[in-house]
Parts: sequence; C-alpha cells; structure tokens
Amino acid sequence: MLEMAAAPRLRRGDRLVIATHNAGKLAEFRDLLEPFGLDLVPAGELGLPEPEETGTTFVENARIKAHAAASAAGMLALADDSGLCVDAIGGKPGVHTANWAASGPLRDYSIGMRRVEDALQAAGATTPAERRGSFNATLCLAHPDGREAIYEGAVFGTLVWPPRGDKGFGFDPVFMPDGYDITFGEMPSAAKHSWSHGMTGLSHRARAFAKFVEEALGGGVEH
Ligand code: IMP
Repeated sequence: MLEMAAAPRLRRGDRLVIATHNAGKLAEFRDLLEPFGLDLVPAGELGLPEPEETGTTFVENARIKAHAAASAAGMLALADDSGLCVDAIGGKPGVHTANWAASGPLRDYSIGMRRVEDALQAAGATTPAERRGSFNATLCLAHPDGREAIYEGAVFGTLVWPPRGDKGFGFDPVFMPDGYDITFGEMPSAAKHSWSHGMTGLSHRARAFAKFVEEALGGGVEH
C-alpha cells in the first residue's frame, strides 16, 4: 500500500465507479455522496462482473472489489465490504454475512436474521448483555494505477428478536444501536446514516464515509 499522501483524491464532477451489486448499499452510497457532486457509476451499469470475495477480512474483500472495478473500468472505484459481527458466536457471521442470507441465488434477509437468532439461542445468549454485536464497514477507494485508501467504521449495539421495522436493508431490523431504543429497521434512513462535517455519524457506513469525505474529498468543502 502506498503512503496516505499518495491516496487518490476526488473533486466535484469526477466519475467514480460504485463497486457494489447490492441495491441497498447502492442506495446508501447515493444518499451519502449526493452532496458532493460526483458522477457515480454503478458497477452493474458498466456490466462489471462481481468478483469472488475470497478475503478473510473486511479490508481484504473491500480491496478485491475496489481494485477489480477500478482496473476493469479504468476509473476510480469505491467499494464497501461490511457485515454483522456477533460477540456470543465468535464474531460471526462477519465477512460471511451476505452468505448467511443466501437462499440459492437470491438473498433472503429474513433467513439470515433467523440464522443469527438460532445461533444466539444455541449459544444460550438471551439477555441484552449477552447479545452484543457490531456492524462494520470498510471502504476501499482504488485508482486504476493501484493506489488505494482504506476507511473503516463500526457501530455497536444489541441483537433483538423478533425483527422490528421495515426500513433500511439486510439485518437492520434486528440491530439496535447503543443509545437508541429502536432498531435500524425502524429508523428513517437519514437518522441511520446521517453525519455532518466534524461529526462521526451513526451507522458503520456513515462513520467510514465521514473519514472518506474528510480525506478523499477534503472535508467536502464544496458541498
Ligand atoms: P458484502 O459487504 O457485500 O459482503 O455484504 C455484507 C452484508 O452485510 C450485506 O449483504 C447485509 O446483509 C449486511 N449488511 C451490511 N451493512 C448493513 C447495514 O447497514 N444494514 C443491514 N445489513 C447490513
């Protein structure tokens, strides 16, 4: 990896490939980046294939996705690898979170949430203190020449059952962030991932984005 000083920087109007095929994530990327006037191009629109996520950490998988998209498209690319880590089950599902929701070729998050709950029950985790977990997001900004920068964010909370709320995506309905008595699934998207200059934001993705905006967009001064 090159020095931070050599990390790619972005300006209003720059084209940026969003290296995700996940519609929920794409919507959050668009919301989060909307104020900065970038020309966002979803990987799916360019017909880029989804690379295999063979890494064992969020950082490795974010790098795989961002570099694959940057070199295939010949443009700057931003990827996110994220997931839910639950303490009582050894940090699972972790980098395999998306797979836990897989049902054949489709993703069914109600199945994924049920699997997490079954694992918590099997581990005897019934009280809120035993049902701690975190959402983690790692962003990788990659340049076709190989330069990159990594930005990480996490949010801690409690796993609830049954799922609550129909907002957000993925495992949002079973995650109650610390300091709140509603789940991400019950929270308007602006509350889940809002942040402002100098603030960290609430969600794992918002926190990683705050660092990205600070460093790659110079604090978003143009917005
Ligand atoms: P990946 O980063 O493409 O490997 O997928 C990560 C998976 O983690 C997603 O498919 C979701 O199931 C889950 N996930 C990541 N971020 C969130 C979030 O903000 N809310 C709910 N689920 C999430």
